[in-house]
Amino acid sequence: MRVCQVAIPTPVPRLFDYLLPDSMTPPTRGARVAVPFGRRREVVGVAINIVSQTDLPPHRLRTIQRLLDESPLLTEEVLDLLGWAAQYYHHSIGEVINAALPVRLRQGGPAELPASTVWRLTDVGTAMSPAALRAPLQRRLLAALQAAPAHELDRPCVLGFGARGMVAMRALVEKGLVNAHMQELTEHSPGPTAEPHALNADQASAVGALQAARGFQPFLLRGVTGSGKTEVYLQTIERVLAKGDNALVLVPEIGLTPQLVERFQRRLGVPLAVLHSGLGEGERATAWLKARAGKAPIVLGTRSAVFTPIPRLGLIVVDEEHDASYKQQDGFRYSARDIAVMRASRAGVPIVLGSATPSLESLNQARLGNYRLLELRERAAAAASLPPVELLDLRRLAIEDGLSHPLRTAIAECLARGEQSLLFLNRRGFAPVWMCVECGFIVPCRRCDARLTYHRATARLICHHCGAEAAVPVKCPACQGARLHALGEGTERVETALARHFANARVLRIDRDTTRRKGALAAQLASVHAGEADILVGTQMLSKGHDFPNVTLVGVLNADQGLYSSDFRGPERLFQQIVQVAGRAGRAARPGRVLIQTYHPEHPIFTALRAHDYLGFADYALAERRAAGYPPFRHLALLRAESPKSGAPLAFLRRAHAFARPAPPTVELMEPVAAPMERRAGRYRAQLLVQASARKPLHAFLDTWLARIWDSKEAKRVRWSIDVDPIDMY
Ligand code: ADP
Ligand code: ZN
Repeated sequence: MRVCQVAIPTPVPRLFDYLLPDSMTPPTRGARVAVPFGRRREVVGVAINIVSQTDLPPHRLRTIQRLLDESPLLTEEVLDLLGWAAQYYHHSIGEVINAALPVRLRQGGPAELPASTVWRLTDVGTAMSPAALRAPLQRRLLAALQAAPAHELDRPCVLGFGARGMVAMRALVEKGLVNAHMQELTEHSPGPTAEPHALNADQASAVGALQAARGFQPFLLRGVTGSGKTEVYLQTIERVLAKGDNALVLVPEIGLTPQLVERFQRRLGVPLAVLHSGLGEGERATAWLKARAGKAPIVLGTRSAVFTPIPRLGLIVVDEEHDASYKQQDGFRYSARDIAVMRASRAGVPIVLGSATPSLESLNQARLGNYRLLELRERAAAAASLPPVELLDLRRLAIEDGLSHPLRTAIAECLARGEQSLLFLNRRGFAPVWMCVECGFIVPCRRCDARLTYHRATARLICHHCGAEAAVPVKCPACQGARLHALGEGTERVETALARHFANARVLRIDRDTTRRKGALAAQLASVHAGEADILVGTQMLSKGHDFPNVTLVGVLNADQGLYSSDFRGPERLFQQIVQVAGRAGRAARPGRVLIQTYHPEHPIFTALRAHDYLGFADYALAERRAAGYPPFRHLALLRAESPKSGAPLAFLRRAHAFARPAPPTVELMEPVAAPMERRAGRYRAQLLVQASARKPLHAFLDTWLARIWDSKEAKRVRWSIDVDPIDMY
């Protein structure tokens, strides 16, 4: 008997046994197979092992239906990494593998790169004089083939000869002058078209250290905004490519700008496999297969690109390593940054984590000597320097539509100089609150413990948590009063106010609402670069990674939100966000200026910001974390539960808490509590925090604990999940 153990995309955390028919060649490990599962006739799974026995009774053993791949779709290296990730995050291996595959391949789509036809001259065709042909189009095609490199033309070239080009080409084939060949699509890369910068001393020593690394070695590249980190990546990758190795570059979702892709292309001139959520499924699968086939020496992508199979991997880069978008927030809740470090370690290659504002976790690793710290202390471009940061004390200043007088003056000066300003406000829509002036009633979301945001463009109230929409009430539902209005400001309101104050300026708003359409963000960024906008207003989408040389003024409209956050990461996030957005000012020759509006100018965070002292702030924040027993000094796991029934999640978590007794002394369980936003999208949510002083006992505890939870009947009554190293506690 031959039994194949298959990983199947289901939450149940184990492999499933299937009978391999005698007539079937056994699938190789990592190849896809089609199998019946539950009531479904066919699901796509991945073969993991072939064994000769099973615990299943013979009548329950079902049969593999088809093999989908002759050779493994996933390499041994990636399978091994996924196996580790499934264990570390205590998540089902089938779902983990599924997360690593592009949707097309999950659905059983072909694992071959799309092919295309090229036409190549035969010996007869090479020797023949074009003049000997009577048909003018055939004559021109033959001449073109003889002049072409390798004597071949591809489809786009032939179509370039006009509508009858293909007919003429077929005639040449019939005459034996040309052969048609099928060939995998290959990108023509022109080679580098831009020169590298001459490195400054800090950059040179960073590149030197990276280049000298042998085997696994983690580096933390901390460089102030605009210090030329990307240049360091490029020159390091250049050397990796020269050795014939390939590089994996991870970027946050937001930062994946077309400009970055272009910069890599111009400088390195090799085919890139680009993987991000803006791609169509077909494009994504093609890019992934190209990477796997080793046809793209650089794989550049967001979170899930960390799992791309890459032959001869020589280097991993994680840009903006502190960015929260590296953490998947539902389903398989992994951190792509942490997995990247594990991948580098298992593959035995160097890894660079880069940021102007590294996460406290990574900084702590550097302090412990586990990561080597490389610093870029100054801005790279000639004459560029870090912009001074000024605080605008809102206790003493009147504000109108979110803008204080000094900020408006600064914008006017910026306009007069023909430079761009950027205003940052982490809130989209027109106003976060729609309120009755008479009784104070605020329109809530019916499905969440949250308020609805007023959007003027669509004249609707929208919930930013569940997407629910409602009409704008003209009468107060509570007191029947007729005086309701929009309170507070979002990007839409600021945009309107700017248009009123600066009638001749071109105002461009960039947030999730203006960039929903595919390609919209790219188009808006391009217009900023083309100088078609004077004032930019937007959310964090505008703050990260962009290099806008003409932006000289940055205004932060409401910095205080982060100060009130209940999350222990609130101050760190706030600091990172402001440094990132401030980093957009004065990146080129003209000096920049940063204005921050706040009610708490005396807060230590702002003192550190003004001194551009991130490392000083980090010291203070790390000391606080140590005192409070938070990561990176202790390790967390969060058991979450949700249900449409109000009492169910807490009841489940109390049972789970009971299952944990006796917990080992190094592992501490908190009492189950309602989530900070208890109701969301019509579901009640609760959570139970587990803390441990070391990882090993934590994982051992989770293994036995979760197994007991899986076996319990309570676990079937709610939707629950475990989040290892959670970064958002809501
Ligand atoms: P970061 O990735 O740290 O934000 P970039 O690599 O984008 O920084 O560099 C910021 C700007 O400085 C870019 O316009 C870049 O072309 C320029 N630059 C980078 N390195 C140098 C250098 N050694 N000399 C001159 N200009 C540089
Ligand atoms: Zn809602």
